[in-house]
Amino acid sequence: MMTLAELVMMITIVLMVAIGFGLVRSSRSSSPAPRQPADRVCPNSQCRHRNPSHAVYCARCGRRLGTD
Ligand SMILES: [Zn+2]
Repeated sequence: MMTLAELVMMITIVLMVAIGFGLVRSSRSSSPAPRQPADRVCPNSQCRHRNPSHAVYCARCGRRLGTD
C-alpha cells in the first residue's frame, strides 16, 4: 500500500516531467520559422510585399520584381 508521502512524491515527479516536456515543446514551437531568403520583396517602397521567389511581378501592386 502506498503512503500519502509516496503518492505526493509520485505526483510531483509526474508533474515535473510533464512541465519539462511542455517547456521543450514550447521552446521549439516558439522559435521563429526561418524566412525563405529566396523570397522577393517588392522594390516599391510603398508596398514591400513579400513575393515567392518565382514571382516576376508583385502580387500586391503589380510592379515588376527586377534587379533594379
Ligand atoms: Zn508591390
